Amino acid sequence: MILYLILVVLAIFIVVYFRLYLFVFPHNRLVILMYHQIEKESHEDLTVSLKNLEQQFSYLKRNKYTSHFFSDLTVSTKRNIIITFDDGYRNNLEYLPSLLEKYNLKATIFIPTGFIEKGYKNYAMMSFDEIRNLDKKYFEIALHSHAHENLRNAPFDFVEKDLKKNMQILDAQNIRYSKVLAYPYGKYPQKKHDKLAFFSILKKIGIDFAVRIGNKVNYYPTQHPYELCRIDIKGKDSLIKFKFKLIFGRLKLF
Ligand SMILES: [Zn+2]
Repeated sequence: MILYLILVVLAIFIVVYFRLYLFVFPHNRLVILMYHQIEKESHEDLTVSLKNLEQQFSYLKRNKYTSHFFSDLTVSTKRNIIITFDDGYRNNLEYLPSLLEKYNLKATIFIPTGFIEKGYKNYAMMSFDEIRNLDKKYFEIALHSHAHENLRNAPFDFVEKDLKKNMQILDAQNIRYSKVLAYPYGKYPQKKHDKLAFFSILKKIGIDFAVRIGNKVNYYPTQHPYELCRIDIKGKDSLIKFKFKLIFGRLKLF
């Protein structure tokens, strides 16, 4: 009897923790994937190998996932997905256009304008011209702050100035973008009072959605537009891991 009870409690915990109850509402289940770099071979977590990425895209297509932009987000199908890439690495440009076309998918690229202006470490980044010329059928541009600072404890006047600068530079470059923010490093204030004040800045400057990491699947339409979760697809994730992540969001309990 006790064993039975433990199993029931465990099953309920798993259903709630991994948000498996969302399968009851497949039309409202929204998976958002997070990627960074693409290379022929993966050397680290933030770089997906071309082979893995192609396998993953092919899997999404075969399983009838519908990929959306944030700008036209109506979860109208049974399998809704948003594919995102952070930072504007130039290798995205080399591989993504043909892959997205081949598998009929879309991608959102989050641009930190400071990285485009000044570069980032030794990485090759896209130029403003390249960003502007991305095919709008397959690419959506969105915000990733200007300076790419951790915003968890940043002063609010800095936050507002930096996010506005991100938009102003894209405007000046004549680049169309969606008012969707990916928090740099996925970080934003956690204390309730700070969080609300921070969100009121986002609202004031016209941000529609913001994404964290969190590794959870979302219910959409959401009550928490500034806390949408993304699933971190690691460089060397096997196809099996990828499939599990599409179901559970994460592979570990904590
Ligand atoms: Zn970033």
